[in-house]
Amino acid sequence: MYILLMGPPGAGKGTQAARLIGEYGIPHISTGDMFRAAVKEGTLLGLEAKRYMDAGQLVPDSVTIGIVKERLAKADCKSGFILDGFPRTLEQATALDSTLQELGIRLDRVINITAPSGELVRRMTGRRVCRKCGATYHVVFNPPAKDGQCDKCAGEVYQRDDDREETVAKRLNVYQVQTQPLIDYYRNQGLYTEIDGLQPIEKVFEDITGSLRGGRA
Ligand code: ADP
Ligand code: ADP
Ligand code: ZN
Repeated sequence: MYILLMGPPGAGKGTQAARLIGEYGIPHISTGDMFRAAVKEGTLLGLEAKRYMDAGQLVPDSVTIGIVKERLAKADCKSGFILDGFPRTLEQATALDSTLQELGIRLDRVINITAPSGELVRRMTGRRVCRKCGATYHVVFNPPAKDGQCDKCAGEVYQRDDDREETVAKRLNVYQVQTQPLIDYYRNQGLYTEIDGLQPIEKVFEDITGSLRGGRA
């Protein structure tokens, strides 16, 4: 199963991807996670990406497209993947098309999780992430059992630098200008399904798996 998971920042892509990999046993490829890992390792890529992430901007296409191409060519992508947070620009979308064509892969579904901007702000500013395993929580909507500690690995739970209120507004604006136009791009290809991300996490998941089974596209 080859799935593209789209949606504005904070819509719930990472949360749903974590559940979907459990259901389908395919790799979760998140460009945001890849950049955060590079920042943590202090690589050159990490240093460059951090400048843009902290400013709420997109990392340049030339950099982003390169790392995704490399990742998709790995053996574990042969049986499927969940691509989360990529593409985010038209240039990335056309680059993805040609990469998939080279690999002989056809997307099964493009899922777009939607939510109004007030809710996105609440979700991002309340988001907490495990430093060790990347699991995602929310201080109100989905708190860990023990304050500040990951349920899965007992790692420290922290707030991403770019989830502070000042940067959140910038990211929403970048989404509207640079990423929203992609909706028409995929709608025209007939693979597109919109999911109401305002519902509880469990219900969003049911809608997504229902759509993947062919129930709602
Ligand atoms: P994205 O990857 O799209 O940026 P996340 O999956 O990280 O979004 O979710 C953003 C925040 O909202 C997290 O704190 C998460 O726990 C919370 N969240 C995700 N889905 C829901 C939902 N359906 N209802 C309430 N909170 C949610
Ligand atoms: P969210 O979905 O919550 O906005 P991500 O973890 O997907 O967060 O992305 C965090 C940051 O990483 C983005 O604000 C951007 O700076 C960078 N990034 C992630 N994916 C891409 C992409 N496809 N193109 C450019 N920059 C990206
Ligand atoms: Zn953890």
